[in-house]
Amino acid sequence: MKKSLLVTGGAGYIGSHTVLDLLEQNYEVVIVDDLSNSSKKVIDTIKKISQKEDSLFFYQLDLKEYAKLEKVFEEHHFDGVIHFAGYKAVGESVMNPLMYYENNFFSTINLLKLMKKYKVFNFVFSSSATVYKNVPEMPFHEENPLGAANPYGRTKQFIEQILKDLSYSDDHWKIICLRYFNPLGADKSGDLGEDPNGVPNNLVPYIAQVAVGKLSHLNVFGTDYDTPDGTCIRDYVHVNDLAYGHRKALEFIFSQDKGLYEAINLGSGRGYSVFDILHSFEEVVGKAIPYKVTDRRPGDIARSLADISKADQLLGFKPRSDIKEMCQDTWRWQKKHPNGFSEE
Ligand code: NAD
Ligand code: UDP
Repeated sequence: MKKSLLVTGGAGYIGSHTVLDLLEQNYEVVIVDDLSNSSKKVIDTIKKISQKEDSLFFYQLDLKEYAKLEKVFEEHHFDGVIHFAGYKAVGESVMNPLMYYENNFFSTINLLKLMKKYKVFNFVFSSSATVYKNVPEMPFHEENPLGAANPYGRTKQFIEQILKDLSYSDDHWKIICLRYFNPLGADKSGDLGEDPNGVPNNLVPYIAQVAVGKLSHLNVFGTDYDTPDGTCIRDYVHVNDLAYGHRKALEFIFSQDKGLYEAINLGSGRGYSVFDILHSFEEVVGKAIPYKVTDRRPGDIARSLADISKADQLLGFKPRSDIKEMCQDTWRWQKKHPNGFSEE
């Protein structure tokens, strides 16, 4: 019989690509998403690409609404849960911390209470590289000290702690927190990708919008860092590799008899500077992308790189896409859908 999974935030960027992967691997998927940062069109697109309409269920609801969420648990039996839902904009979390603490905590607590009540103990959580304390030594290893630098990051760090406490309290729980680095790319169809609200904060969606003519130029935030070309270095990972990482995490959980709690980095293990990414994108697009050098962006760190040996050893996770493929896939999506899901 097919295994059935609850995927919260499954209409979002990483969630939707993971749902596609899971459907292809013959799982039944129930998405719960309030569409606060996504579109109903994502669900239709997943159905179209996967051709697995019968295996996909969608509930538009806010996880903070316990009674409504309980109805989903009453209607479906779940073998496991992947929890993507949450707010994720660092700047917004600094301006409005209560909104972030309320949404990310209450949603997670409701979900965990219901999982406990309905005896669903297999859980994969979307954590983030932002939980790490900034230290000069790279890469970040899972045992590094934690010390998130903003409210968004602290919601991830505290939820990891809640999950750890839960796993100590009852050894039925099998929990993996995946700490993602910088996701990039889009589905090969060019019909599913990242659709940021307004002007993008992140580097690659910004470059893509310059390339397609929606923005005039890229602002390169600082060229005076202690790095080979003076710009910051990040660990970019294809969103499809993240999707596959979630599947590997679930498979690992299903293969274990005993309770477990693990935090695991998901990245590519390779670092690229802002100029590396810009030039790679220019190569893919076949034209120069205008840019201006500006001051550093407050809060940016010079380097962020993942040690991915634990993901390999425990999950058999090996990233499959290089930076060129990440830029090609991003560009295919951006070119085909310059206005994301809101174009039609
Ligand atoms: P996203 O915003 O595209 O997806 C999150 C989804 O959750 C959205 O569809 C949104 O509508 C939904 N949602 C939010 N609050 C909800 C609620 N209360 N009830 C129901 N649905 C709700 O974000 P993403 O980039 O796909 O990220 C997914 C997860 O991964 C998030 O938890 C994010 O913090 C984490 N993460 C993202 C990145 C990144 O760079 N994108 C990096 C590290 C970690
Ligand atoms: N960046 C930039 N211009 C932009 C957006 C980002 O120069 O318009 C730089 C930013 O300073 C950082 C890198 O690109 O060094 C990646 O930024 P992003 O916001 O994508 O990821 P994060 O900083 O969260 O890792």
